[in-house]
Amino acid sequence: MKIYGRLDCPSALRAIKRGPTYARYRVFFADEASAIAAGFRPCGVCMRAAYEKWKAAKQKNNLRHDQTPNNPPTNRTKKAKEIPGQKS
Ligand SMILES: [Zn+2]
Repeated sequence: MKIYGRLDCPSALRAIKRGPTYARYRVFFADEASAIAAGFRPCGVCMRAAYEKWKAAKQKNNLRHDQTPNNPPTNRTKKAKEIPGQKS
């Protein structure tokens, strides 16, 4: 998962202690905007405010996405009727 946060983030320091994998994939950004542009999300531990904002925006996007195809029960019924000879 791509997460950006502060250099002294307790969560990041824990990950560094756990093993070399995290440190190897650690990247540094000049500012928040470039981190977001690179597809990173704010850290929920040290960037709480930014994280909540990111989460709210993501949920809004998900809702909009769900509304487009919609009505899965209707689709399922229609599909079942289209299959000949299938009775449940
Ligand atoms: Zn953090």
